[in-house]
Amino acid sequence: MTKRIAILGFLLESNAFAPLTTREDYERRCLIGGEDILDELAKPNPRLPLEANAFCQQMEKLRPDAWAPVPILIGDAEPGGPVEHEFFQWFVAEVERRLKEAGPVDGVYIISHGAMRAERENDPDGLLYGRVRDIVGPEVPILATLDLHTNISREMSDQADVLIAYLTNPHVDQRERAGEAARAMDEMFKGMKPQTAFVKVPIAAPSVVLLSAEGPYADIINAGQAAQEASGGKILNVSVAAGFIYSDSPKCGMTVVVTARDDLEAARALAGDLAERLWADHERYQKALTPLADAVGMAVANGKDASRSAQILADVADNPGGGGTGSTIYLLKGLVEAGADGVVMGIVIDGGVADDAHAAGEGATFTARFNRSPKTTFEEAFEVEAEVLKLTDGSFVGRRGILRGRALTVGPAALLRIGGVCVAVGTFRKQCADPAMLEMFGVDIAEVRTVVVKSRGHFRAGFDEYFPPEQVIEVDCPGLTSPVFSNFEWGDLCRPVFPLDQDTTWKLPPW
Ligand SMILES: [Zn+2]
Repeated sequence: MTKRIAILGFLLESNAFAPLTTREDYERRCLIGGEDILDELAKPNPRLPLEANAFCQQMEKLRPDAWAPVPILIGDAEPGGPVEHEFFQWFVAEVERRLKEAGPVDGVYIISHGAMRAERENDPDGLLYGRVRDIVGPEVPILATLDLHTNISREMSDQADVLIAYLTNPHVDQRERAGEAARAMDEMFKGMKPQTAFVKVPIAAPSVVLLSAEGPYADIINAGQAAQEASGGKILNVSVAAGFIYSDSPKCGMTVVVTARDDLEAARALAGDLAERLWADHERYQKALTPLADAVGMAVANGKDASRSAQILADVADNPGGGGTGSTIYLLKGLVEAGADGVVMGIVIDGGVADDAHAAGEGATFTARFNRSPKTTFEEAFEVEAEVLKLTDGSFVGRRGILRGRALTVGPAALLRIGGVCVAVGTFRKQCADPAMLEMFGVDIAEVRTVVVKSRGHFRAGFDEYFPPEQVIEVDCPGLTSPVFSNFEWGDLCRPVFPLDQDTTWKLPPW
C-alpha cells in the first residue's frame, strides 16, 4: 500500500549571544515549500539539507512505487542568533496549514538541527514536533534527524517516535542518518514499535573537544555503536548528542537517547550504562587553546623557514558555523602587524570591504576599512592599505567534507593582499569549511605556508588533504564562539554544568 510521508525541516543552531536570525537569513540559504521542494531535489546540487535527498532515495529503495512524498516546508539558515519571533510564528503556522491541507499522512520525517532558540521560545524544536503530533495524531510515526550539536529536550523525545543524531564531527554522515530514518520508518510501517530512553548528563563541552575521530567523545560514540551492534537487533539507534552550550538554554548538556525495537527495558539499560560511562569521563571534556601571540609567532616562523611544515590556524572563537560574525580581526591584525608572510586567511565577512574592493577593481589598491558597522563588541575597527588580487561573486560548490556537493555563496567577495597576508573577504556568513572557498579566488593551498580559517572544526574534513591533525592549531581569540566559557555572561543555561561549574556532580536518576 502506498504510504504518504510528510517531509519538513526547520533547522537552526542558535547562539544566544549572536544577532537574531531572520526570514532573510532563511531565504538566503533555503526556504522552500510544497512542490518546489521536489523540483529542488531534482537539481544536481540542491539547496536543501542533504538529508532531504537521502531520505527520499532510501525510501524509494525500500518501497519502490509504494510511497509518496508529501513535501511541506523546509527552512535552513546559517547558524546565528535566536530565530526572530514573527518569522518563527509564521513558519510553525505554515507547517500546520500545509500539513492539514495535505490530508492524512502515514508518516512524518522532520529534518532538524535541534539547537534552535526562538526569540520568545526556549524549545522551538519541541514545540514544532508537538504541533505536528497534534495534527497527525498519536499513531502516525514521526521521525527526526538531528545535528550532533543538538540540545535535546524531553518534549522532543516524547513527541517523536525516533530521534537520530549525527555520529560524526565534522558532520559527514547526514546522508547515512537520513537513510537510517527511512529504514526505521519502514520498519514501523511493518509493525515495529520503537521504545526510547532519554538521559541528560550535565556536560556542556567546548566544541573543540567534541571530535568523533579521537578523544572522549569518539570513545562514547564508539561504545554506543558497539553496543548497538552487539544487541542482536534489539537496539534500533544510539544517539549521544553533544549539545551546543552557546544556545544558553535549560536544555543544553549532553543527551543519551537510545531507541530499542519494542523493548523499553533494553533501551533503558543501555542508555543508563552509556550515560554513566559518559559522566565517568567528564574530566576529559576540557581543552587548552594556543594563545594568539604564540599562533602569530608560528605563522611568522612558517613564512621565514620553508623547512617547517605548513599549518592551519583555526579562529575557533569566531566561527560563523556556531553563530560567530566571521568579522573579528584579532588574527588578521596580529599577523599583519607581525609581518607574517605566506598567509592566506578566509573568510572574513565584511560586505563593506567587499563592496569597496569591487568598486576599486582588480589590481587596484584601496584603504580597507574593516568593521565600520559592528554588531558585537568583538568587531574592532581596522584600517589598512590593501591590494585587490581577485574579485568573485562568492558562489562555489563544496568539494570536500560537510559542504561537498552543495551550491553556496558568500556573496560579493574579494581576495586582498595586506602585506604578506592574503585575506578573502565575503559578504554573507559562512564558515570556511571547504578548500573550494579559497580556491574560488585562485589560491593554491599547497603553496600556502599558513592558512587561517574562520571555523571551529568542520574545516578538518575539508582541509585534511593538506593539514593532518598535528598541523592544526586552535587559536584563543575573543569571540562569540570562544571555547573559554568564563568569557560569557550566561543566562538560561542549565546549571550546574561541567566544565563551567567544576564542582558539578551527577548520578543516574531513576526512570
Ligand atoms: Zn553541528
